[in-house]
Amino acid sequence: MREYKLFIGGEFVDAASGETIDTPNPSTGEPAGRVAVAGAEDVQRAVGAARKAADEGPWPTMKPQERSRIMLDAFEKIFAASSDISQIETEDAGHTVRMSNLFTVPYSNEFWKFLSDLGGRIPYTEKVEPYGFPTEAWEWVEREPYGVVGAIIPWNLPYMMAMWKIPPAVVTGNAIVVKPALETPLSALALAEIIAETDIPPGVINIVPGHGPTAGEALVTDPRVDKLSFTGSTEVGRRIMQLGSGTIKHVSLELGGKGPNILLDDADLDIAIPGSLWATYMHQGQFCTSGTRLFAPASLYDEVTARLVELAESLTVGSAEDFSSDMGPVLNQTQFGTIDRYVQIGQDEGAKLLTGGSRITEGVPEGGYYYQPTIFGDVENSMVIAQEEIFGPVLSVIRYEAVEDAIRMANDTVYGLSGGVWSRDIPRALAVARRIKAGSVWINDWHLISPASPHGGYKQSGLGREHGIWGLNQYLETKYIRVAQEATKDQKFWYQVLGV
Ligand code: NAP
Ligand code: MG
Repeated sequence: MREYKLFIGGEFVDAASGETIDTPNPSTGEPAGRVAVAGAEDVQRAVGAARKAADEGPWPTMKPQERSRIMLDAFEKIFAASSDISQIETEDAGHTVRMSNLFTVPYSNEFWKFLSDLGGRIPYTEKVEPYGFPTEAWEWVEREPYGVVGAIIPWNLPYMMAMWKIPPAVVTGNAIVVKPALETPLSALALAEIIAETDIPPGVINIVPGHGPTAGEALVTDPRVDKLSFTGSTEVGRRIMQLGSGTIKHVSLELGGKGPNILLDDADLDIAIPGSLWATYMHQGQFCTSGTRLFAPASLYDEVTARLVELAESLTVGSAEDFSSDMGPVLNQTQFGTIDRYVQIGQDEGAKLLTGGSRITEGVPEGGYYYQPTIFGDVENSMVIAQEEIFGPVLSVIRYEAVEDAIRMANDTVYGLSGGVWSRDIPRALAVARRIKAGSVWINDWHLISPASPHGGYKQSGLGREHGIWGLNQYLETKYIRVAQEATKDQKFWYQVLGV
């Protein structure tokens, strides 16, 4: 069994309490690894190590190009570990082997590579338009790291989320303390083992899995943390914002979603049908950007639902470790219980269960929670199953008459993370896409975003944007510098005002 300690100040250490936890493999329920559990005291030590790295250097005062070079050198080691990390992500987080090897790990690695490179190329000074009133001056802006970043990440995409937080924070000169979810901490700690072997100085990156209410809150409330970057549920995001307000922390939040997927009547169904299932069933629906509300035109409703059901029923659900599995287990019993409860609610409120709706027990390992790919028809957008994030393989199909109605219902949600449109007519699809109130909108595609593009939510799906220049800027303070041009006191503007 893999065993990991906390990564603090460049060293692997036990928790002060000595506590450890076994993290289960979602496919089997068997332990995938054992990790030290950080308590408040350990988090405070990690913040201290990060503070030292941020205040005493050399990392923040190094040239950005130099930081970038060190991080790109580190990338060689990260890249070399790809298949090992993929294996860990499958064992610890239930990513199917196809998902972890083809998507999760190579895709996440691109974020390290691209953002480490971009961080060495962006200008850290900016011109200020000369203004001349009340006096001429030489003036410009310098972009500086905040200092210490506290990052909290969710269980569904542990490696991806670590790779979304660490590179942009660190290449811009910050030190970071990452608190992975205790459900799936292994890949972030495997990354720590690689980082320990690179030239990134001790204390710049610290990784401390622990319980949210203890370790998480210790990080969020620590006055030595300058900036918080959180990915998780809207409910916990709200709490992070409240707790961060005590010390006026800069907060960026990537939260939940209930992605509207609008199928126009000219869509190519050979792509739109599988595409809509990819939008919902990727990682068993445990994806923030999932397109869980499909708006189908009334004229095509019967054909669309029949084809969705046929394709959903053809999917192979099984152990994440089995190459033939299209879908794997859901995380654990709690997650299974939540999904099952929503499926009951859907039936109670009058939606029609077209397929799925039950746990699979035949032909799958006993200790895992496998859920049938599930589709509800006759869903009203106001129903609970269309309004709340289920975070499981459950698709709601909602009928519409006019495209106008589909757009209105699509936006009738507290969320605004993702959205999509399927059509053969790109200008028509674009006109619809522009009216969806969400941070990312796909046309004839879903889930994919590049490391160069901004990711984040409208409304209660979040604050701020990750990746690209937008993401790097989230980790940089803005300092205005003004150098006076006057040579003598009596040329001074303030001499005339105060007379000193
Ligand atoms: P969660 O319950 O909100 O937990 C997220 C993280 O916050 C975990 O590390 C958790 O720790 C920690 N936490 C919980 N309570 C806390 C508190 N009081 N103070 C500080 N930290 C606390 O979310 P999840 O169930 O792990 O993940 C699923 C959610 O993440 C979904 O809503 C999904 O949409 C969202 N998500 C969003 C994005 C995006 O980019 N917008 C990406 C992925 C996921 P423990 O659980 O270890 O106790
Ligand atoms: Mg696990």
